[in-house]
Amino acid sequence: MQEISFQNITIDTISYPILLKKNIKASVLRLDKIHPVISGNKWFKLQFYLQEAIQLKKKTIVTFGGAWSNHIVATAAACRAYGINSIGIIRGEMPPQLSSSLRFAKESGMQLVFISRSDFRENKIPAELLHEENYFIKTGGYGDAGVRGAATILQHCEKDYYSHFCCAVGTGTMIAGLIQASHPHQQTIGISVLKNNLELRQQIMGLLQEKSNFHLFHQFHFGGYARYTTELLNFMNNFFENNQIPSDFVYTGKLFFAVMNLIKKDFFPAGSKLLLIHSGGLQGNASLQNGTLIY
Ligand SMILES: *Cc1c(COP(=O)(O)O)cnc(C)c1O
Repeated sequence: MQEISFQNITIDTISYPILLKKNIKASVLRLDKIHPVISGNKWFKLQFYLQEAIQLKKKTIVTFGGAWSNHIVATAAACRAYGINSIGIIRGEMPPQLSSSLRFAKESGMQLVFISRSDFRENKIPAELLHEENYFIKTGGYGDAGVRGAATILQHCEKDYYSHFCCAVGTGTMIAGLIQASHPHQQTIGISVLKNNLELRQQIMGLLQEKSNFHLFHQFHFGGYARYTTELLNFMNNFFENNQIPSDFVYTGKLFFAVMNLIKKDFFPAGSKLLLIHSGGLQGNASLQNGTLIY
């Protein structure tokens, strides 16, 4: 397996005429480049959980996800790298053919356990997995150790230079880390990829020690989690043509669309310097029909 490499991270400047017109600078922190499959924020969120599991001498990491979960893929690979067993509790019946994400997880040594959607929703853990030697990580790495890990993301840029950090938001763990790592005069902007997840602000506040400066947008979900429209896919192709930056349709495509839209609507004051977090997730594009995207 190819190694995870932070050296591959770049900061790419976005060019669109509107940025010049509005006097806004925008760059993308390319966490998608650390590995072709285990890209992005999941690796950052996992690091302290794994350290703790090893300190506690746990034998196996158990975590949760869907068939195309970036978190499952990253956990499988991370556990293999650290020499610890992994079990993925997967939402839904076992399909006749595994998704490429689950195939990768399995090939990395993860044991897959399928549970019904309703059990998954209720976080029901199969009794045989409730074992002292198992270490559980919540879906998406939600929790304090995930936040601490995500906070280290900003060590890979000139943090003080930027006025705004912008990211896609699922569980809110990554944005909590970014908020924690940023200065009070910097603003963190989160684009929720779920529809009507109105508890999100509370979820994020629950991960932070103090009141902080962040702003969430809920209108860029394109129909809901992992939903998309032709408009979104066209935007992603256009964004790639303009900037040579690929995005995924679940998270980063919606982030880039939202930021460009907010720039048009003058949400950001002239002179703003934005850093957009490319949190990875490109492996999920394999669920789209071939030829949908130009990259
Ligand atoms: C999981 C994920 C996110 C969301 O991170 P949270 O910490 O759950 O908010 C964003 N982008 C990508 C590519 C992801 O895989």
